[in-house]
Amino acid sequence: MENSKEMRTWLNAFNLPHPIVIAGPCSAETEDQVMKIARELKDSKVSVFRAGIWKPRTRPGGFEGVGAIGLKWLQKAKAETGLKLAVEVATAAHVKLALEHDIDVLWIGARTTVNPFAVQEIADALQNTDKIVLVKNPVNPDLALWIGGVERLYNAGIKNLGVIHRGFSTYEKTKYRNNPEWQIAIDFQNKFPDLPLIIDPSHITGNRDMISQVTQEALDLNYDGMIIETHNDPENAWSDAAQQVTPEQLKKIIYDLVIRKETDEADDYQLKLKKLRSKIDGYDSDLLALLSKRMKIAGEIGTLKREKNVAVLQNQRWNEILEKMTAEGIEKGLTEEFILKLFKLIHQESILHQEKIINFKE
Ligand code: PEP
Ligand code: MN
Repeated sequence: MENSKEMRTWLNAFNLPHPIVIAGPCSAETEDQVMKIARELKDSKVSVFRAGIWKPRTRPGGFEGVGAIGLKWLQKAKAETGLKLAVEVATAAHVKLALEHDIDVLWIGARTTVNPFAVQEIADALQNTDKIVLVKNPVNPDLALWIGGVERLYNAGIKNLGVIHRGFSTYEKTKYRNNPEWQIAIDFQNKFPDLPLIIDPSHITGNRDMISQVTQEALDLNYDGMIIETHNDPENAWSDAAQQVTPEQLKKIIYDLVIRKETDEADDYQLKLKKLRSKIDGYDSDLLALLSKRMKIAGEIGTLKREKNVAVLQNQRWNEILEKMTAEGIEKGLTEEFILKLFKLIHQESILHQEKIINFKE
C-alpha cells in the first residue's frame, strides 16, 4: 500500500470545515437510550453516530453487547436524525449483519487488529465494499501490525480507509487507561500522510476529565477527526462509565477546541519558524556531539574496569546519577518522566560501549 491523495476521498466527501466528529455511546443499551443520545447529537458538529453492538470485554461475565437487535435501533436513529452509523465488527458474521442493516462505517477494534486471521476474515467478508472502514491500533505498540491490518483491507479492494489511535496497553499503571505513545501514530502519519487519522481520547484516557486535553493534543498534531464516547447518563452506562461524556459536555469540548492550520503562508510566520528551526537544528547537533563525548568516556571507564576485572554495572552509581539528574532536570523545567526515559537510554548505550571493551578478545 502506498500513500495517495485518494485516501482522503471519503473524508473530503463529508465536506466539513472542521475535523470529523464521531460520537455516541460505548454500547447500545436500549432503544430509548440510543434514540435519546442520537436526538441530542442531531444538529451538532457530529457527522457519525457510533455504538458498540458486540462488546469485546477483557473478562467474561460483563455486558457483552445487545447484539443484532441494536442494529435496528441504530437504523431508527439514522432515519430520524440523518446521522451516519458506525459499529465495531470483529467477525464475518458481524460484517454480514452490519451490511444488512446499512451501517455506513465499520471499525475494527484494538483486540481484533492484533490478530491477522481475524482481520483477514473481515477483509474477505468486506471484499470491494465502498463502506468506510477504520482500523484501531492494536493493543500492543506495534506499528507494522497496525499498518498490516490496513493493508489486508486495502488488498481486498477496500479504498475508503482510515485509522483510529486509541492508545496501547501497559502493565504498569499510568495516568492513561491506554498509553498514547504519540510517536507511533506520528510515524504512521509520516508514512501515510493522506490516510485519515482519528483520535479516540475516550479509550486513551479512560477518564472524561482528560478528553478535551488529549483531543487538543491530537489536533495540534494535525489529526483529521475524533471519536468520543457520548452517553445520556454516563455514570450509569453499562460499559466504560468513567470515560463517557454527555452530549452537552461533548458540545462544550468541541466548542473549546482550537483548530490549527497545517501551515501558514505568511512571510513573517515562515521567517520566524525558519529561525527557530535552525536554532533547534543547532542544539540537536550539540546534543549529538555531547553524547558522543560521553560515550567515549564510558569507553575509557570500560578499559579501566577491564584492567581491574570489575563488572560493568554498579547499581549504586546508576541510582545516584538518576537521582541527581532528575532533580537537576526538574529544576530546568523538564519532566521527571522524560529524564528517566532519556537517562535509561543513555545508560543502556554506555553499558553497550563498556561491554564491547570489556569483552574484546585480542
Ligand atoms: C470501543 O470503541 O468501544 C472499543 C471497544 O474500543 P477499543 O477496541 O479501542 O478497545
Ligand atoms: Mn468503550
